[in-house]
Formats: sequence, C-alpha cells, structure tokens
Amino acid sequence: MVADGFKPDFALPYTDAVREKTDSLYPLVERLIPRLEWQLHAPYIAAINDLKAEKNAVILAHNYMTPEVFACVGDFRGDSLMLALEAARTDAQVIVQAGVHFMAETSKILCPEKTVLIPDMRAGCSLATSITGADVRLLKQKYPGVPVVTYVNTTADVKAETDICCTSSNAVQVVEHITKEFGTDQVILIPDQYLAKNVAAMVDVKVITWAGACEVHERFSADDIREIRAGNPDVVVLAHPECPPDVLAEADFAGSTSGMSNYVKDKQPKNVVLITECSMSDNVALENPAVNFVRPCNLCPHMKRISLPKILDALQTMTHEVLVDETIARKARKAVQRMIDLPKSPNQSVYDGVATPDSLIVEHPVEA
Ligand code: SF4
Repeated sequence: MVADGFKPDFALPYTDAVREKTDSLYPLVERLIPRLEWQLHAPYIAAINDLKAEKNAVILAHNYMTPEVFACVGDFRGDSLMLALEAARTDAQVIVQAGVHFMAETSKILCPEKTVLIPDMRAGCSLATSITGADVRLLKQKYPGVPVVTYVNTTADVKAETDICCTSSNAVQVVEHITKEFGTDQVILIPDQYLAKNVAAMVDVKVITWAGACEVHERFSADDIREIRAGNPDVVVLAHPECPPDVLAEADFAGSTSGMSNYVKDKQPKNVVLITECSMSDNVALENPAVNFVRPCNLCPHMKRISLPKILDALQTMTHEVLVDETIARKARKAVQRMIDLPKSPNQSVYDGVATPDSLIVEHPVEA
C-alpha cells in the first residue's frame, strides 16, 4: 500500500540480483503474499536491506506494520515497549521507525546522539494529539501531589510533565508501583480513557484520566464481539486494553499486542480473533500456521502511511529526521527510563474486570 501524497520511483525492477537477495525471505510471507505481488515488494526489500548495512541503520517495526515491512525489513519487531527497549540498546547509528511519530520521538529521547528517521512525518496518533503538555500542567494544578502516569502514546512535551510512562503491557504494574512510591491512593493515568478504565478495574486506587481514545480500538463494540461469536462458535476472542471495557468484558483474554501474540503462540487455539489493528492478525498468523484467524478489519490510517517505498526513500535521503528539544527530552527521558528500569512482572499484559464509576474520573480539555 502506498499512501497518498508520495510518489516513489515506480517501480523498481525485479531482477535476477533482487531475486537472489530476497528468495530466502519469501517463505516468511508466502502464505499471505502471492508470488506476483512479491515481485513488486522484493526490489524495495533488497534495496532497503542493502542500505541498512551501508548506513549502519536498523528498522524498528511495530506489530501494526504490513507483513512485507514487519517480516522482511524489520530488525526488531514488537509492541511499543519492546521497540523502546531495543532503541535504548542498539549500537546502530541510524534508527528508522516503522511506526508512528510518538514512537520515533521515544527513540530519539532514549538515543539523543543517534539519527532517528520516520518515513512519513504525518504518521500521527489520535491518542497523542488528544493532550498537550499545557493540559497536563493544568491537571497537576488541579490534583497536586498525585503522581502522573503517561501512556507512551503521547508527545515528548507530555512525557516531560510526567512522573513515569507506561505501555498497555505494564500499565497495571506501573500504577501499583508509583502509587506505592508516592504513598497515595490516587493516580493520574492519561490520555487513554479506556485503558485507564481497564486499569482502574485491576487496581485499588482512584484513577483520574483524560477523554482521549485510540480511533482504531474505540470503534469495536460488545455487539461486534457477540456477532463474531455467533458466526464462529468456537472462536477465542483476544482484545486490546485500548478497547472500551464492555468489549473486554466479552473477550476471553485482554492484553497488549505482545500479550495477544504470546497467547496465540502458547495456547495455539484452533480459531482466534484479535480485537485490534488489522495487520496484527497477519503478522501473528505468519508465525502460527496451525491457527485460523477470524479477521474483522480496523486499519490505523497513521500506521498505514509507512510503506516500503517510503522506508527506502527515508534511507536514501536521510529524511525525515525526528528531533526533540533537549530540555524537554531530558525530562521525558526520566519518565521513560523509570518505566524501563522497573522489574519485569510475570503477570503484566493481562486485564480482567470492569471499573466502578467511583474509582474513575474522566477529565476533558478546558475550553479556551
Ligand atoms: S492504533 Fe490507535 S493508538 Fe496506535 S497509532 Fe493508531 S491511533 Fe494511535
């Protein structure tokens, strides 16, 4: 898929040299990508992999990338927590973020001396744009002394106002840790109101949140799940905690993208549906050939701006570089690093239950 507004040099030829360089990769995706279509992708894959070696670059590929990106050029693959950890560890001089802008900012915050590129600057996120650093400062004035936990799906200036970051795979653990450290029974957990509601059901503290939402996950409803079950009686339903609580209540398991992926790998259900972004099912299906995937398809338009031609262009032209003001980066780094430094919890990634109304407050932006 090539997003609007970008005109790659169509099309690079599928030559004998390209075939030699890419034939070993085709088995990774052959169950999803027909040979003829592969011949369109392969020249880009060969050119990208050559340039990565030449420029000492790595590609961090999020689970929501399309399979030809995820499996064939991604050096590190996973959810936003795993990608942040790899960004912090890599020796490469150049990081290309095959994901959205807040992820590239997180990489830059953790690796200020490295060049971080994003193939399309417009790859945003409805959660990241829902709140600003100024909004967080107002929240802190309204709830003095209450620790602020910020989901990584936020801009650097929001992270800079934060005590600690979290992802969907560790949010429960982070909230429990920071409230204990602050000796309080309240937490500000922003900006995803659904993740906050789902976390509130799991912890014994009052959660103050923000009226933000992921435009992909909030579209799923409990009725969707009931319909899927009616058409597929033995299906196992796995849902992401950015979905509304009534969706999670209908699911068999709720967890982050890594949590869902591990569930499928470990339990090998005969039929499964992943209630999350569309490409995730493709990528998990490639690694689990014995599992049948039911596929309702909600695409993230921001993730889908990243394509092979744009990744190649990013490496050829060394654009678009993601920069973060050092004063903001220093403060944001503390919040991200504090999360990274937490001990791993064996039970992270699992959600269960429904928040009671008095355990949760949803704050809205103040009208100007
Ligand atoms: S899937 Fe949702 S949370 Fe993820 S980038 Fe897209 S809009 Fe943001």
